[in-house]
Amino acid sequence: MSQYWSHLIHGLTPYVPGEQPKINNLIKLNTNENPYGPSPKVLIALQKEASESLRLYPDPNSDVLRKAIASFHDLESSNVFVGNGSDEVLAHTFNALLNHDKPILFPDITYSFYPVYCGLYEIAFETIPLNDSFEIQVDDYLKPNGGIIFPNPNAPTGRSLALSEIERLLKTNTSSVVVIDEAYVDFGAESAVGLIKKYPQLLVTHTLSKARSLAGLRVGYAVGNPDLIEALHRVKDSFNSYPLDRFAQAGAIAAMEDKAYFEETCHKVISTRTHLVKELTDLGFEVLPSGANFIFAKHTKKDAEVISAGLRDKNIIVRHFKKPERIAQFLRITVGTNAECAALVSELKQLV
Ligand SMILES: *Cc1c(COP(=O)(O)O)cnc(C)c1O
Repeated sequence: MSQYWSHLIHGLTPYVPGEQPKINNLIKLNTNENPYGPSPKVLIALQKEASESLRLYPDPNSDVLRKAIASFHDLESSNVFVGNGSDEVLAHTFNALLNHDKPILFPDITYSFYPVYCGLYEIAFETIPLNDSFEIQVDDYLKPNGGIIFPNPNAPTGRSLALSEIERLLKTNTSSVVVIDEAYVDFGAESAVGLIKKYPQLLVTHTLSKARSLAGLRVGYAVGNPDLIEALHRVKDSFNSYPLDRFAQAGAIAAMEDKAYFEETCHKVISTRTHLVKELTDLGFEVLPSGANFIFAKHTKKDAEVISAGLRDKNIIVRHFKKPERIAQFLRITVGTNAECAALVSELKQLV
């Protein structure tokens, strides 16, 4: 505890990302990265960008990228905000749109960065319990609030909420912002992007880290009414004018434009997931229905900590959150390639 720290820093509890161990031959199923590389067109765009032009600052507003994202979603550039990973987009969202007098609402089991942003920006929050099947119940959110945020599909449960339920929430909750974090939407949930023209209080966030295999490039975005987007630009331009470097912009443009590669990759992950769910169920796991590129599973007999440690000894890492109590026996397992999942299943056969 340093006397030199700002007052706020003493009380911060930062987010802890899944580990990135420096071990060879690791089967890494702990941070929901895509097992397939990015589109080859992204790699070509990045090579082209490695030039003398790096002496110049990048476009501060990422205009070409915002246009590519708008065109992908059939929207206008004024509907799009981009940031250094969707984590940065979310941070600006908490600061610009979710900081009001009343507490914001999010599920008790969800992306654990949300309470961290609340700590950073001193935002009061209330957590709403998922039901016994780990589902979001829209009715529980129909009360006065300073804003609402949840992922769809939710993390780390993988469960998705029907679009009709999201619309029911938007019809009632009109005086605060509703943020739907669609980090995993392309793996099996209905996107709310189509609702932004109808509901000015809706902001939808996306990332290029998961379905577009670009976790290393750090690009995320939000789409919404131009009024919400303007608030995010005000925060960005009061913080860092150039959050996306030249590589990030060039690579992300190529990724957004290569729709065929994106669809094919999502398809492969979904088909591996279907197979993995079946094999784990056969091994005595209870697996929650997943609309994401990971599954959330609990063994009926064997302790989660023991399974996780046993896999680690075999160079396979999965994520075990331990807390809260309700999910202490669950493991979150990223869907890898068919070969990685086969290796996982074969080790699990020994362990359980
Ligand atoms: C991975 C993830 C993000 C962050 O993605 P980045 O763009 O890599 O920062 C945001 N929300 C949820 C729910 C995620 O799982």
